[in-house]
Amino acid sequence: MRETDESIPTPNTDGLTNRERLRWHLTSALASAESAGTITHLRGALATYRNLPPSPLVECPLCGKVGLPERIQIHECRQA
Ligand SMILES: [Zn+2]
Repeated sequence: MRETDESIPTPNTDGLTNRERLRWHLTSALASAESAGTITHLRGALATYRNLPPSPLVECPLCGKVGLPERIQIHECRQA
């Protein structure tokens, strides 16, 4: 099987942050994993994911909205 970052089907990712996407991929991989070694690694990855420090919040320079950087990038700015 060819490994690629491109053709993995994901749910509607428009409203998801990169972090949520990461969790979705890990959870989906774990659900279909069959080898004990793979499962161990995916469980480790999910545990690590949960231990990540929270993203610092940023403020939109235009409208002042505060949120995760990924959210601010895609928010519907009132000043736009
Ligand atoms: Zn804004």
